[in-house]
Amino acid sequence: MKTLILAEHNGEALNASVYQSVTAAQFWNAPVEILVTGNDAANIAQQAALIAGVARVIHVKADHLAHPLAEDIAHIIANIANEYTVILAAHSSFSRNILPRAAALLDVAMISDVLEIQANNTYVRAIYAGNIHTTIQSTDRIQLITVHSSNYSAADVITNTAEVAVVPAPAPQQKTRWISETRTLSDRPALSTAKVVISGGRSLGSAETFEQVLAPLAASLGAALGATRAAVDAGYAPNDIQVGQTGVTVAPDLYIAVGVSGAAQHTYGMKDSKIVVAINQDPDAPIFQVADYGLVADLFEVIPELTAAIQKN
Ligand SMILES: Cc1cc2nc3c(=O)[nH]c(=O)nc-3n(C[C@H](O)[C@H](O)[C@H](O)COP(=O)(O)OP(=O)(O)OC[C@H]3O[C@@H](n4cnc5c(N)ncnc54)[C@H](O)[C@@H]3O)c2cc1C
Repeated sequence: MKTLILAEHNGEALNASVYQSVTAAQFWNAPVEILVTGNDAANIAQQAALIAGVARVIHVKADHLAHPLAEDIAHIIANIANEYTVILAAHSSFSRNILPRAAALLDVAMISDVLEIQANNTYVRAIYAGNIHTTIQSTDRIQLITVHSSNYSAADVITNTAEVAVVPAPAPQQKTRWISETRTLSDRPALSTAKVVISGGRSLGSAETFEQVLAPLAASLGAALGATRAAVDAGYAPNDIQVGQTGVTVAPDLYIAVGVSGAAQHTYGMKDSKIVVAINQDPDAPIFQVADYGLVADLFEVIPELTAAIQKN
């Protein structure tokens, strides 16, 4: 019995959630292995090999993995799955794209966004945007799960290196192919790991105001910017900074919600934040129910004042 973790990385560093996944995987008290895919990911495999509790790193290397496609990684997982009883990843857009495909290839259920592992095959997960917690049991021979990584602390980095096994990839599948990609380059910290996140809602009114009002505050606090789905759908903010059930889950030290109503689908993605500050002109806005500090005010007045006060100090 072994556990396999699918590693998310950007070619330079492992995603912080991989360290949290390793902690989650310790539940099974079985050897933990990490799958790293890429054409030139030896340094990533090395980083994975330094995580405490990792027994082995499987580095699947091939030219076509320079721009990995979910279909290819799902096939890699399906090819080696029989060695494992648990295949696990942090719940993110990356894993949500890959693991359900692997589950389909293996004909097992996909168990997503697990909040708590209660027993070898028993999990607590949220439904209805976190309003109901269900306890489910799987009888599948291989458990394929994604975990709510902010519920787990990060595993330590140690000096003892685990074995790295370089394994060839199966032939690329032919149904889809990589053509191009557009990356958003930003000096701000990455949203999923930032210590401070400032999120704006539809109330910001336009893409220009979103940036004009929130960017100076983000700069003065070294914060990442987030947005509600309504702000994203209106074109005020890019899709990759949407916080919530269908976006990114964040758990920073400080979360500042600016003109955000606090719909359940939004709070699902931020309610594990250590301190929540909400600024909304409606005293009855639901966001105040999850806020530690609330300010009933017009954001267009108080955000510039707050930014100036922080810059002054
Ligand atoms: C299946 C599904 C999945 C979803 N997933 C997500 C998700 O992942 N993330 C997400 O965010 N949403 C998600 N939603 C949408 C969610 O239900 C809400 O519609 C959305 O979060 C609302 O965004 P908002 O708070 O920006 O807008 P609104 O609900 O319109 O709220 C705007 C708020 O701004 C306040 N306001 C207005 N002007 C000012 C001002 N000048 N100063 C201060 N406050 C002001 C108002 O009082 C109001 O509370 C999902 C919905 C569905 C159905």
